[in-house]
Amino acid sequence: RCCDFNEMVSESVKVVVRCRPLNDREKALQCKMFTFDGTYFTDHTTEQMYNEIAYPLVEGVTEGYNGTIFAYGQTGSGKSFTMQGTAAPAGQRGVIPRAFEHIFETIQCAENTKFLVRASYLEIYNEEIRDLLGNEAKSKLELKEHPERGVYVRDLSMHTVHSVGECETVLEQGWRSRAVGYTLMNKDSSRSHSIFTIHLEICSSDENGHDHLRAGKLNLVDLAGSERQSKTGATGERLREATKINLSLSALGNVISALVDGRSKYIPYRDSKLTRLLQDSLGGNTRTLMIACLSPADYNYEETLSTLRYANRAK
Ligand code: ADP
Repeated sequence: RCCDFNEMVSESVKVVVRCRPLNDREKALQCKMFTFDGTYFTDHTTEQMYNEIAYPLVEGVTEGYNGTIFAYGQTGSGKSFTMQGTAAPAGQRGVIPRAFEHIFETIQCAENTKFLVRASYLEIYNEEIRDLLGNEAKSKLELKEHPERGVYVRDLSMHTVHSVGECETVLEQGWRSRAVGYTLMNKDSSRSHSIFTIHLEICSSDENGHDHLRAGKLNLVDLAGSERQSKTGATGERLREATKINLSLSALGNVISALVDGRSKYIPYRDSKLTRLLQDSLGGNTRTLMIACLSPADYNYEETLSTLRYANRAK
């Protein structure tokens, strides 16, 4: 980052951090370093991150591929800030509203192509699936498998949306229902995974007047807090919940690293609801982006290191 000249002369001591590459000795010792596709510091905006790394993934969805964006990290590290964002400043609007804009801009510019856009929003709490946009009676939804459709959530409500505004309304409605649910049940929303999905059906006509149908799906996932139990001091019911969170996060880590590895014949999708549900959007022809969120505070050192390790495994 460039320093302002006045800032430079007014402070006599500057501190910077610079990381060198591994040297020959370290390479010979097969030392590893963390590898990521990008790093974003405190002064970067969600806008920069979206344009650099999320944009191509969402673009793929508008062409008929499936994609998933995860926010991973301990509670308070900025997962919701990244995914939902804040209205002001504009640069910090979240990945989800940016994806809405991106998709509807593409739809407006497309020629000879019709789109059907539907949204769904669910959360997984304690390995139970709840529709954040449905009626209360259907609180625990089941995962089913269809020979052609693959894995799906039975009775999950789908909402047709025609504009960015309608998408935002649906997102807010789900977000509110999530908060209300937690207050009523005296539970903690940082313990659930929430998945906002945009389902696209794309019908394009070629020059001979033939129609071609494609479908793309974008999953926007705010994962449960990754903190370990020793820190939260959970006992009883809370500890059981926390164990399930750890299980599903490690199941996700295992699936992603098996996919990245490329050599594994067996991908352990069935180990958690989260990975089963996202099965058709992880691996194969799909794109995945993991945004690992970190706290800069020294007392979070261990959690930060564990997040870096998790993210590095996915690489
Ligand atoms: P999480 O969803 O991981 O529990 P939040 O997104 O709620 O964490 O973030 C915790 C707090 O930190 C919030 O007050 C949020 O506004 C703030 N915050 C997180 N990331 C940033 C950022 N990059 N810039 C400014 N404030 C941030």
